[in-house]
Amino acid sequence: MKTLTHQPFLAQIIDHLDRSNRNQQSLLIFPTQLSIDYFQSLLNKKEEQKSVTCLTLHQFIMMHSSIKPLPTLTLLSRLYRLAEQVLDRKESFEQFYGWGLTLLQDFNGIDTHFLNDSGLCASFIQQKKKTVDTFVDQNLLGSLQKARTLSQLQEKEELLVGQQFPLLYESFRESLIEKQEGYEGLCYRMAQPLPKLIATYQELIFIGFNLLTAVEEHFIQQCKAIASTTFFWDVDAHYLDHPNNIAGHYLRQHRAKKWFQKSFPTPTYLNDPGKKVWLIEASSMVAQVQAVVAALQEKTNKGLPKFPATQTAIVVSGSDLLIPLLDQLSKLSIPLHCKLEYPFSATVIYTLLVQLVKLWEATMEGNQLEIYIANLLALCDPFVKDMTQSGRAIGHALSNDRSYQSEASDIWLNKTHKDLLSYLKEGLAYIDHYFVEPDGLFLALNKMALRHLLKYIDGLAAEMDSCSVAFLLNRVKENKMCFHQNHPITGLYIVEVSASYNLDFEHIFFLNMNEGAFPKPMHHDSFIPYDLRYTLGLPFLDKVAENSTAYGFYRLLQRAQNIYCNYVQKNSLDTSSEMNRLLMQLTFDSKLKIIQSDHCIYSPTKSIPVISIQKDDGVMQLLNRFLVKESSAAASSLTPSALIAYLSCPLQFYFIYLLQLKQQVWPKHGAEAVQLGTLFHRVMAQFYQPFIGVEMDKEMVMQLASNIKVKLKEAIAAQRTELSAPMLLHTLLEKLLARMVDLDGSDAPFTILGVEVAIKQPILLNLDIVREVWLSGVIDRIDSSNHLIRIIDYKTGLSNYKVSSIASLFDPTQVKKNKAMFQTFLYAWLFKSLYGAHGLDQVMPYLIHIRSLFLADYKPGIFIQQSDNGKKYQQIKDIMEYAQPFEEALKALLLEIFNPAIPFVQTQDLEICGYCPYVRICQRDVVA
Ligand code: SF4
Repeated sequence: MKTLTHQPFLAQIIDHLDRSNRNQQSLLIFPTQLSIDYFQSLLNKKEEQKSVTCLTLHQFIMMHSSIKPLPTLTLLSRLYRLAEQVLDRKESFEQFYGWGLTLLQDFNGIDTHFLNDSGLCASFIQQKKKTVDTFVDQNLLGSLQKARTLSQLQEKEELLVGQQFPLLYESFRESLIEKQEGYEGLCYRMAQPLPKLIATYQELIFIGFNLLTAVEEHFIQQCKAIASTTFFWDVDAHYLDHPNNIAGHYLRQHRAKKWFQKSFPTPTYLNDPGKKVWLIEASSMVAQVQAVVAALQEKTNKGLPKFPATQTAIVVSGSDLLIPLLDQLSKLSIPLHCKLEYPFSATVIYTLLVQLVKLWEATMEGNQLEIYIANLLALCDPFVKDMTQSGRAIGHALSNDRSYQSEASDIWLNKTHKDLLSYLKEGLAYIDHYFVEPDGLFLALNKMALRHLLKYIDGLAAEMDSCSVAFLLNRVKENKMCFHQNHPITGLYIVEVSASYNLDFEHIFFLNMNEGAFPKPMHHDSFIPYDLRYTLGLPFLDKVAENSTAYGFYRLLQRAQNIYCNYVQKNSLDTSSEMNRLLMQLTFDSKLKIIQSDHCIYSPTKSIPVISIQKDDGVMQLLNRFLVKESSAAASSLTPSALIAYLSCPLQFYFIYLLQLKQQVWPKHGAEAVQLGTLFHRVMAQFYQPFIGVEMDKEMVMQLASNIKVKLKEAIAAQRTELSAPMLLHTLLEKLLARMVDLDGSDAPFTILGVEVAIKQPILLNLDIVREVWLSGVIDRIDSSNHLIRIIDYKTGLSNYKVSSIASLFDPTQVKKNKAMFQTFLYAWLFKSLYGAHGLDQVMPYLIHIRSLFLADYKPGIFIQQSDNGKKYQQIKDIMEYAQPFEEALKALLLEIFNPAIPFVQTQDLEICGYCPYVRICQRDVVA
């Protein structure tokens, strides 16, 4: 039994079955497969198992549907062809894919909620004439708007106004029904209970449902009319009878219906005085995981596990913590039971796919293959037997040794120039064929990922003649795969809170119960305007997630005895939010024994080692790559970013620039800032590239403004990754670029000397021996007017433009706010030292802080505190005045880097660790 104190909810069903006088099988209908697994683990007798059939509601409805579901890609491909005719518009399938998916979701929603076709059509036509404000009150509007991020779809929305959307919906629906095929909502809508099939069961038992869509409820109602039905609701009076508790939102609606009414019990276990709820504030997201995993290893005085796997569950919301959680659990020998969505992009198979795509590109373009082959072999190594042999074979093939033949080299060297999908299918099928026996979580996960990928590529190949690299990678990256471990009796359950229905455990660990993380905010694109959604009664995903999560949380609390709710403390590196509202509510609306803990009660005591890298011969060798040698052409150089990394954290510099451990680091506030910066730089470079050497007057500059839309479109098209908030970025960039051109216009005339200018220059150091170190960088733009050369650097991130002194540019405690100025100043200094220290022209470091462009009094450049008046700052117009202190400080910094007696140490500033890709190596994510 997975609970000790109270009987689990599903045991009531067994009692019911035992009590009933049965001569036929009963059909048990559950909300999820997990609840079936749990139920079957309670059935210990073979006869009991034989006397019931268990189905999920989805399986049950599909059995009665006259039409069969099609894969999403097939549906999209059909919809694509139909949309071309109905909307009289040509575009590629890849262009259609994104908005086609939204259309498909809308159609599915319409059928799932039983909307009437003619009513829908009338509403859409009427909608054209109405304004949003006439429908909804302003408070609601904010919440509705969250549900609809139509940005990139806006252009398409114009195509679908009035009759077009209903027309497309009806034509698509008819064409599918004609072939007896459909999407899930349509299959549900076409389902009719088959009396013959239903008659084979003595009783239909519907178990532990919460939210039922209109089409599901209609189907159940039809079953009730022709069969003996029993309903079991898993509820507690604590939330069911409190109209303000959203955990009971859907159940209160069911209870109000006549045909459900009688089946509603009102037990209450929730406020059991023996129950204990710990609210545990952890220092970081990963710290919670480590603490839970440590708790799972704790023993009682009798040497037994304190939290036996069979009575314990870990509950998550979303997939954020699955990667560290599975990583930590893989070190224990505890079997797991779970069925979770796992981000495909977090698997090694995804990285392997990216390498395989690069290799394919290299084979098609006739480029050197060695580096891609080496990467591929390294990534395949844990999965494929005899990878060394394959590597040898490919080596022979690359050196044109015809006497040596191998399957692997034939496939991967792509001698026959296969198209992308065929190439990937063959290569991945080879890996799958030779995949080692998966005997741990890591291998099992990647094996599942490989199978998932193969299936996905098969689906693409069936619907598309060709597929671009960007399309493939973007689609695969956003894919979620199912991670399934099947040990329902002995395993530790890991469950998603909204899929935890009917499951009960003695001990429960909730993870990441922070506001904004539990539940995760949902975004929902839709062509159905939000006011119309509201009028038609279509649900909003964020509200559904909120209500379902609340039910999942309170329901799990009902019969459990020890509940550990982990959340990350405010101001930690991981989050700025706080304990979520469910926990807050629990503290005032329940009579439970709630124990608040500032620190982790089951925290591991292991101390975190300090890392310090001594500069031994090996490390000095790595550093010597930056020195000027005789053959200096290919020598590495230190960039401003490298020096900033050193000032921020010497160890981080060592990881990035010496060990070259290049890891992906996501900006704390999403990818938007990076994309904004990249696109802004790209468009500005395109603007001025044709005018190098040309003096531009105001009129010429202002003409650039008319090109903003076109250049922006080109820059976005060249982008390999999808924009994270396309409409927002597009609008913002248009405004910023227009403002920038405006500003340039007011500075005209000027002569463009270069854009994206690569510059490399050595600096002489005197240590015990004379050394020269290469420094380099890429200057965004250089222009000149009236003997003033501007070294222009556009900055999109947050940065300062005022500095107290040149020395403070080198102060590690100020590097976070000063790095943009440091970089621009270094560029100006490099330029001056390369093109003439004695030139007549002034060299001005010209930092343009893009986010400040709209400030009324904003003036680009760098401003330094006046030595005679500490309150005033003056613009640096020529670096000559500051070149000497800058050069001295720069040399001192480089001498420190090259000093064998000074080790690479860790920063003391934990905020820097929060953005650092090596935070796991340093374990700085558990000490904040
Ligand atoms: S985690 Fe912190 S200490 Fe470690 S390398 Fe990164 S910044 Fe330095």
